[in-house]
Amino acid sequence: MDLASVRRVHVRVEGIVQGVGFRPFVHALATEYDLAGFVGNDTAGVFVEVEGDGERLAAFVADLGRRAPTLAEVERLTTEPVPPTGRPGFAIVSSVTGAGRDALISPDTATCPDCLAELADPADRRHGYPFTNCTNCGPRFTIVEDVPYDRRTTTMAGFPLCAECTAEYADPGNRRFHAEPVCCPACGPALRFVTADGAPVPGDPLDTAVRWLRDGRIVAVKGLGGYHLATRADDDRVVTALRARKHREEKPFAVMAADLPTARTLVDVAPAVEPVLTGPRRPVVLLPRRADAPVAGSVAPGNRELGVLLPYTPVHQLLLGRLGMPIVLTSGNVSDEPIAHRDNDARRRLAPIADGFLVHDRRIHVRTDDSVVRVFRGRELPVRRSRGYVPAPITLPWRFDRPVLACGAELKNTFCVAKGRRAFVSHHIGDLENYETLRAFTDGIAHFTRLFDVRPQVVAHDLHPEYLSTKYALQRDDVELLGVQHHHAHIASCLADNGDPGPVIGVAFDGLGYGPDGTLWGGELFVADLTGFERVGHLGALPMPGGAAAVREPWRMAAAYLDEIYGDAVPELPVLRRHERQWPAVVALARTVTNSPRTSSAGRLFDAVSALLGLHDRVTYEGQAAIALEQRAHRDERGGYPVEAGGPVPLLEAGRGLVRCVVDDLLAGVDPGRIAARFHHGLADAVVRSAGVVRENTGLTAVALSGGVFQNVLLLDRVVSGLERDGFRVLVHSRVPPNDGGISLGQAVVAAARTACKEGPLPIASCIGGGPS
Ligand SMILES: [Zn+2]
Ligand SMILES: [Zn+2]
Repeated sequence: MDLASVRRVHVRVEGIVQGVGFRPFVHALATEYDLAGFVGNDTAGVFVEVEGDGERLAAFVADLGRRAPTLAEVERLTTEPVPPTGRPGFAIVSSVTGAGRDALISPDTATCPDCLAELADPADRRHGYPFTNCTNCGPRFTIVEDVPYDRRTTTMAGFPLCAECTAEYADPGNRRFHAEPVCCPACGPALRFVTADGAPVPGDPLDTAVRWLRDGRIVAVKGLGGYHLATRADDDRVVTALRARKHREEKPFAVMAADLPTARTLVDVAPAVEPVLTGPRRPVVLLPRRADAPVAGSVAPGNRELGVLLPYTPVHQLLLGRLGMPIVLTSGNVSDEPIAHRDNDARRRLAPIADGFLVHDRRIHVRTDDSVVRVFRGRELPVRRSRGYVPAPITLPWRFDRPVLACGAELKNTFCVAKGRRAFVSHHIGDLENYETLRAFTDGIAHFTRLFDVRPQVVAHDLHPEYLSTKYALQRDDVELLGVQHHHAHIASCLADNGDPGPVIGVAFDGLGYGPDGTLWGGELFVADLTGFERVGHLGALPMPGGAAAVREPWRMAAAYLDEIYGDAVPELPVLRRHERQWPAVVALARTVTNSPRTSSAGRLFDAVSALLGLHDRVTYEGQAAIALEQRAHRDERGGYPVEAGGPVPLLEAGRGLVRCVVDDLLAGVDPGRIAARFHHGLADAVVRSAGVVRENTGLTAVALSGGVFQNVLLLDRVVSGLERDGFRVLVHSRVPPNDGGISLGQAVVAAARTACKEGPLPIASCIGGGPS
């Protein structure tokens, strides 16, 4: 070798690079390029030193990022020349542990093709073994109890490796090199099948589960992040029984199909959807249901969509493979309780629901629900971000100067811890309205702050004083507290999702959020950046007769709108006839101030129209009436109700104007599906025209769309198309949900920007100032 061309370089790799096979990959790569040196893990990620010919060295470094293992996410790669040592050979050196912890933990990942092949191979020692995993797949976040990430700090600690697994674990050339959850039939967890009374059922547990499911029974299945309840999906009788026992009246169930071809018999799978459905994160994907799908009507009543997912553990793979038909797979819980994940608790809570239990002896440390997404224009639109996604950080193009904890909202709660350039949004905690969810929330915060070594100096919360997440924040000592307005957090979350600091025109449409003027907001038009917002428009506010009762009974919102528009001369409409007896009292209630808070909520406008069309007078879950309205809309209707330009922005009069048009069409006998479509289009057009007015006044050309109402892809599509046609740049969500599940990320970035604002020059545009206009 020409000694003059020999170089040595120190490389630091940051990101998700531990527990994902990065060191063996580096070892193989160095061998391929004939380079000497070493690789190891430390608290910040992976360190490498390589020595050899300069050109090959450069090619090696380039390939480090390009050819990284499937589960790795290289965030940053830095190199620094060091003097050559002349030592030959390449080694994997032992891990270095230290004070600061910046290493990341990978999310749980669906069984990889190599493991699936072993599972199916009768000659393999893991043939049919339900806990097969490797460096590229398997449980991670749900089994990690502490850091540094090591088998001893996972729920696999109680399963000592057998000799064969030890050899695989120690061999850099093996796919299971340093895969912490690795195991086999000789040394790993095992399945069992027990009855609801806890009596063991003899025979192969999977075969028993298959037989019981085929016979139309309900089986609780212990999964990755919790227990599920399973039944065959084509049997209306058993699905209805599951609904009754679970006290879940109408909310759709997800269906698991064995593979992509089976999924295609249930739903239409567009080419852009395939990678989402079959990818390593395996969310439930909401897709158009096929008319001939072999699925009982009670699985997703009144829905033209079906939530479908593919197997993500070997247990699912084996179960579905043997069963040969799709199953309902829904969270193991009663009503809105958190999903059961500890064995004793699951047995107690699920015994009244399930006939039998397919269980195993690997503990679940962190409960995580299945994630749910829609696909909008080829990109994921998250509805619930949890298993498979968490705890991968949202990496931002700006820094958090001080560590932040953001406590999120009340419904669909997530929290977020952030430091450096990373925001760790938690798994879906749920609605903070009972002891168990609150416990999951506080335990979760303790776990995340420890795992990611974040000691919060700033704690952000919603302005709503009654949210349990707000109350939790206010109890924290020795931190700087910062209240963030709900819809500002929504817009900021969309900015963070897109790595854009603003300023933008922000449209936040959702159910309800606390407004600083004492009314409930939810149909908001802002000029906003990360530090502040100005409310430049909103849907006209009107009363919610009876407050919370109006959320449960959308017909009350119809009454409020009709009273606003027609006063005592309300036309003879079906909704009025259906509630003739209560109508006068509810209208009187609407006219009082005390029991009918005023709201500018877009969600309540959808509720009113849904009730007017006779879709839902009452709801059993959040957003039900609005979802029904979207589902009902005729897809071939292009027309939209005209929006009058009254007031500073068209949005202000849009609600009343649209309801008037709905009433006119109803009285004229127009089909409700056409009315639903024209309503969506009219509202979308009002948003687009309002953004145009704000652009004229401010010169801003970017619009961020957030809030739970923008899960409605019919509305979203029309708004995005209209804005783009008018030359706007449009920001939508693709990493965190537009609903309240994304609020914590927004709070975190606002807190960081605001607290930076006090101390010196801003990294972003300007402080615009908050408060209502
Ligand atoms: Zn694997
Ligand atoms: Zn083993």
